[in-house]
Amino acid sequence: MLSAPILLSLVVPVFNEATAIEPFLVRAGAAIEAACRRVGPGTLYEIVFVDDGSTDATLRVLSAARQRNTAIDIVGLSRNFGKDAALAAGLRHARGHAVIPIDVDLQDPPEIIVDMVSHWLAGALIVNGVRSHRRADSPLKRLTAWGFYELYNRFADQVIPSNVGDFRLIDRRIVDILNTLPERSRFTKGLFSWVGFRQAEVSFVREQRQQGMTKWRYWHLWNFALDGLTGSTTAPLRIWTYIGLTVAGLAFLYGLFLVGLTAFAGNSVPGYPSLMVAILFFGGLNLISIGIMGEYVGRIAAEVRGRPLYLVRDINGELLRPIDQDT
Ligand code: UDP
Ligand code: MG
Repeated sequence: MLSAPILLSLVVPVFNEATAIEPFLVRAGAAIEAACRRVGPGTLYEIVFVDDGSTDATLRVLSAARQRNTAIDIVGLSRNFGKDAALAAGLRHARGHAVIPIDVDLQDPPEIIVDMVSHWLAGALIVNGVRSHRRADSPLKRLTAWGFYELYNRFADQVIPSNVGDFRLIDRRIVDILNTLPERSRFTKGLFSWVGFRQAEVSFVREQRQQGMTKWRYWHLWNFALDGLTGSTTAPLRIWTYIGLTVAGLAFLYGLFLVGLTAFAGNSVPGYPSLMVAILFFGGLNLISIGIMGEYVGRIAAEVRGRPLYLVRDINGELLRPIDQDT
């Protein structure tokens, strides 16, 4: 029998969301209670709000909610650090056996948490929320998102699914792994595909934002994309080695051709052959050495990230589950 009750955690980053919190609590509260019933009697939940440096009444609304419901925890950050950092803070604070990051604006429907929990009980360590379509997004957003995933999946070592956001269920085991990773500029989506393990999917329709407005701007998305690519692959560095080799090779051939031409047909423009050969040769040499340096910088980047070499899923087929550890 289980000695400690099972705990489910919601992690909710909030940044200037005073009007969104009450509607969220109504729907998410009902959903998480249903999820607790699904797990079994005695199951508890907590809702960890991470106040990402809000300047409006968010904190006051949260404190009032906590007065009514002690399952609510509030982690206040010292300023606005961005959603990813807020999520990292929430993941560290959450104590649940399963942790579910969710947006406060109800774009992630809380009702599917019950299905996520079912998959989790069936043995999945990560249950991804998959958007079944992006009709709520503008055509430009859809196009840029599509382009990003195409590019990313072509270069990165682990493929990421294209319609998965931050809304997912994460088993305690994975949360502990994520909490110990030392890397600073995290690309969470990439991390979740990197950890592997048995994953399941629940699809949902992403709704329109209920209150307030989105805090993402294209400039942020662009930086986000850059972080994602450079955090997960050294392909942009490595490419220069090949470009350099190709250019140097072509330059060498062209140089031979010019030397031959000069030797047999004479020199029509004095100085041109030697100049051209020198420029091409050194251009190629430069690119090759940049490429070599890129190789080393790429290795440094991988070392600095300090990820474990591997993660063990099971021993003798026995998956170690946090729930089992409590027994
Ligand atoms: N958020 C945050 N810090 C930020 C920006 C956003 O904690 O700097 C929170 C926000 O309150 C919301 C979630 O992250 O709960 C998603 O934000 P938003 O709806 O603006 O993003 P979108 O849905 O457009 O991707
Ligand atoms: Mg939103």
